[in-house]
Amino acid sequence: MDQLSPNSSNGQVETAGWRSLSPATYRGSTIVYPDYESFLKRGEGGRKAFTYGLAGTPTSRLLQARLTEMEEAVDTFLVPSGLLAITVSMLALLKPGDTVLIPETVYGPVRRFASETLAVMRINAQYYDPRSTNNIAFDDPKLRLVWVESPGSITMELQDIADISRRARARGILVGCDNSWASPYLCKPIALGADIVVEAVSKTLSGHSDLLMGSISVASEAIADPIHRTIRSLGIGVSPDDCFLALRGLETAELRIKHAGQSGLQLARHLCDTKRFPLIEAVLHPGLSNDANHALWTSQFTGSNGVFSLALAKENGEAHGRRYQRLKTFSLGASWGGTHSLLAPSVIVDGRCAGKYDGKRFLRLSIGLEPVSVLLSDLDAFFSEADG
Ligand SMILES: *Cc1c(COP(=O)(O)O)cnc(C)c1O
Repeated sequence: MDQLSPNSSNGQVETAGWRSLSPATYRGSTIVYPDYESFLKRGEGGRKAFTYGLAGTPTSRLLQARLTEMEEAVDTFLVPSGLLAITVSMLALLKPGDTVLIPETVYGPVRRFASETLAVMRINAQYYDPRSTNNIAFDDPKLRLVWVESPGSITMELQDIADISRRARARGILVGCDNSWASPYLCKPIALGADIVVEAVSKTLSGHSDLLMGSISVASEAIADPIHRTIRSLGIGVSPDDCFLALRGLETAELRIKHAGQSGLQLARHLCDTKRFPLIEAVLHPGLSNDANHALWTSQFTGSNGVFSLALAKENGEAHGRRYQRLKTFSLGASWGGTHSLLAPSVIVDGRCAGKYDGKRFLRLSIGLEPVSVLLSDLDAFFSEADG
């Protein structure tokens, strides 16, 4: 028996008196039961019971509870990426023959999911221009779900979440909202009427560019059930270590967002000087008072995150490429919401917003925690025409 002794207590140690400010990371696949009866009944405890590591740990439950409270939701599910939070929501709620309406400004990889996976399932994904609720075909009898992303990826169009939700609900249509830019600190889509809210926890909420996770928060038990069943049937779970890191990120998320939001707005205002920065055609930031989305932003958001975009004028590709060599603080990289400032160049080619951006070069900025003066001089050097 000696070789079994390290496990003879099933890994349990006394925890009385251990009152840490930090949450514990509970690792484990197997749950053990005190007797035969409780083992047989282990499936009867509902989705909150501990049955297997994949079904959740005390660490993941704590993160779920925090997010549920922040989102004003009924429950929250965790998945290994923000993209999966979107795709699992769609898989759970749509069936063959249904229509899902997706904004043209949706997080790019969702388009691939629609064309490669939803299409095979005979689920009809259609895109709408997000600039007006009137562009949403609520009268399609097969419409089951309207997807919303506000502001939209890269081109930053806001959507009226309350108006969309009201019109959808009147017809029994569900509304799902990708709230990654705002996070629950700046916008609460469920309070505005959405049925599902998805966060890319990988971004601002965890906040340090060191983990991938997504959350799905739901407004009712009726929606929690299909989401739970889909997650269970696919065998999706998240690591307790990642949950710990996300919980630690949440401790500072509100302060980080506030800081990045203020720095971002200051930089956005600085870059509006078109005489000084002829390469910049438009600064796309809903916090700017002359932005087309400003009134909606004021009514549905309580502030801005440090992520905004610039529409750039035409420029020779090589000359443009040389600008990046002048950067001292900004790094080049996709993703956003971390402590380090990033630039992500892209060219829009997907025909969004009646094609008004097609072929145009964009630069998305994700502002981190560096001093704003340092970022300002980096951007001044980047946009300088002196040796460009
Ligand atoms: C990054 C992003 C996602 C996806 O999150 P991942 O965790 O990287 O999969 C979803 N929505 C938006 C708006 C994003 O920017």
